[in-house]
Amino acid sequence: MKPKITIYSLGGTIAMSNESNQQGVAPRLTADDLVKAIPQLNDHAEIETNSFLKLASANLTFKHLIELAHEIEQSIARGKQGFVITQGTDTIEETAFALQLICQIKGINQCPIVITGAMRNPTQVSADGSANLLAATIIASSQESNYRGVLVAFNDQIHLPQYISKTHASALDTFSSAPYANCGAIIENQVKYFMPAHLPPLKLDQTLADDLTTMGDEIDIPILKPGIAESPSLIEMVTDSGAVGVILEAAGAGHISVPWATAIKACAEKMPVILASRAKGYLPQNTYGYEGAEIDLLSHGLISAGMLSPLKARVLLAILTSSKNKMSLNQIKTHFKAFE
Ligand code: ASP
Repeated sequence: MKPKITIYSLGGTIAMSNESNQQGVAPRLTADDLVKAIPQLNDHAEIETNSFLKLASANLTFKHLIELAHEIEQSIARGKQGFVITQGTDTIEETAFALQLICQIKGINQCPIVITGAMRNPTQVSADGSANLLAATIIASSQESNYRGVLVAFNDQIHLPQYISKTHASALDTFSSAPYANCGAIIENQVKYFMPAHLPPLKLDQTLADDLTTMGDEIDIPILKPGIAESPSLIEMVTDSGAVGVILEAAGAGHISVPWATAIKACAEKMPVILASRAKGYLPQNTYGYEGAEIDLLSHGLISAGMLSPLKARVLLAILTSSKNKMSLNQIKTHFKAFE
């Protein structure tokens, strides 16, 4: 018996087409349109489609993802065994990680949920959407994908949500898990995993599941990324703005200028401030001892993003601060520690 899977389309380049009176492509295709174009999908699964949204991915919100997770939860109860989500590539690194956390909170990580998209739209020569959708369907149909939670399938590679990032504005191999590694690949239409299932070791409180439903459309957590000789006036504005928290995208191993250090320490007395890096890789905690370096900032209440990129740190902080029972700084720190 073939596994029963649902393919949800959210929009993005994979679902874009043009109209004669308009310049450029926009999301128009349904999940059914995408599936009908690839008869081979039916060799691998019994497929149901759901045209969930038709958006460019910059318009996706936490609310959409929470609704989608709810749909998935109900489909699991109806006997569906795997899920594919097609969406725009621009924000996959955020949505995949957010959906992973939401599914962990809801306790629905048993079935594979595989996100994919396309870099070339269906009107272009050698569009990649069909190959990506086929790969995602094969992954979602494989029992080997169970208990791996959310995965991203792109260009025959399988990536974990906590590591993936979009590295190029137009290249087909834009997605990379570097400096960490992708967890598997599709080879000759077979799923190959290179590592065991690895969900973030988060102890997310199930009570957060109720709080998630109250998440607003807009989340006030700015990412601040200073260049050299930048005035700290932006931090001062944010400190007084009523923001929920701040992600500081510092240089190198988590370094900022002395004026920025003074301002961000004052900010950290009012709200959670996460120290992340504009460079890739794990954030050191105990190497540099000057004012504005990581030892100084972490000892003044900033929380290390560990291996999370600034965008992913923002996703985690957004979810943690959605709790009605406001989390203490220490509780927030404990959750970020899972990524150290
Ligand atoms: N360029 C985007 C994509 O690859 C558009 C989007 O993210 O919706 O799908």
